[in-house]
Amino acid sequence: MAQLKDDCFAFGGELMPLDDALARLKDSVGPVMGMETVALREAQGRILAEDVKSDRNVPPHDNSAVDGYAVNFDDLEADGDTRLAVSGRIAAGHPLERPAERGQAYRIFTGAPMPDGEDGGPDTVFMEEDCTSEGDVVVLPAGLKQGANRRFAGEDVKAGDVIIRAGQRLRAQEIGLAASVGRATLKVFSRLRVAVFSTGDEVRDPGGEADEGCIYDANRYAVMALLEGLGCAVTDLGILKDDADAISAALAKAASGHDLLVTSGGVSAGEEDHVKDAVEGLGQINFWRLAIKPGRPIALGQVDDVAFLGLPGNPVAAMVTFLVVGRPLVLLLSGAGDVTAHHFPVEAGFDYKKKKGRREWARVKLEINAAGHPVAMKYHSSGAGILSSMVEADGLVELDEDTDRLEQGMMVPFLPFNEVTGR
Ligand code: AMP
Ligand code: MG
Repeated sequence: MAQLKDDCFAFGGELMPLDDALARLKDSVGPVMGMETVALREAQGRILAEDVKSDRNVPPHDNSAVDGYAVNFDDLEADGDTRLAVSGRIAAGHPLERPAERGQAYRIFTGAPMPDGEDGGPDTVFMEEDCTSEGDVVVLPAGLKQGANRRFAGEDVKAGDVIIRAGQRLRAQEIGLAASVGRATLKVFSRLRVAVFSTGDEVRDPGGEADEGCIYDANRYAVMALLEGLGCAVTDLGILKDDADAISAALAKAASGHDLLVTSGGVSAGEEDHVKDAVEGLGQINFWRLAIKPGRPIALGQVDDVAFLGLPGNPVAAMVTFLVVGRPLVLLLSGAGDVTAHHFPVEAGFDYKKKKGRREWARVKLEINAAGHPVAMKYHSSGAGILSSMVEADGLVELDEDTDRLEQGMMVPFLPFNEVTGR
């Protein structure tokens, strides 16, 4: 059950810069979920709810980085070849079962433990391809450094280290690292339970009939896909009519059993926008008039102590506001520690004029120029309802509040869609 602070979304001001909105979210929103233990195979995309500590070194023993011959460096000729008898074979998983002796070479394979022995045992490994074998003797060339091709116990992870912190979203590498220290299960936050609705008398479900004047529901499907990409357990609650009572009844019902309610449409504060009245009657709703384009307004509120996110109706605005505000909200509610979306500098392939004082995103496709650098090409239409522009695009170029014009050739921050879409 959600545990949101009272009125954590309260805001009565004028246009809110996006950075303020994000700072507010970080200050006031934390994990609302319980925890559960999952097997590693179920852990991908989940958010870790414990600090994972290793109780062992990885690797557990000094070992060879190559296939070759392990020797004691002090047995080598200072210049010229060294000939040593090969007196043992050490494969991965099969340590030498006796101490190594000075003046001998040991055939060793990648990952096999360096043998212990006289004077600490062999400390240097020659690569097989640099050596010549003459019966039981190996000829080792001069010039190798002491300690070459030897990997140290604990050089990846030391016993006692915290290797992954609570709040981390688990990717392939975290799952692999947890496995490498012997963990078979991890404690994660339970999936955020999210109910998704569309609103609008004109909105119809794809697959059915769309009467004159009607459109098919794009938002619900796009938003559900975005939420699932962020690891949420999504319930599809269909399309609500433009009727405050109907919306209110549906939201009240959904509030039990969910941690977040998401709607799209009906929040522009026009006559036919009934979401406001519905949510106000059940809890509270705050319109964050964000200084962003596309996308304002966005509604944030609470129904009981369940969070409410009201996205704009235009499909591009719904997606972009979800990506820049909804995504951090969802991740914070889900227990994530860091919700930063990294932008990468690319060259602008277009001129652009904008109003100062708001942040804008242009939908762009990357092209590689003759010098091999990515150049952002803007989609020809910037309408908030042109969803095909999102399909065409690789991501968004972000133009900050202080920018009023962009000229071709300038460097601009690019946000790849795959940076913010989770999977
Ligand atoms: P609204 O905010 O409800 O006034 O909607 C703004 C615009 O977005 C209108 O043109 C709606 O028809 C359109 N719209 C609203 N909801 C959806 C939806 N689920 N899928 C596609 N378009 C929508
Ligand atoms: Mg509507």
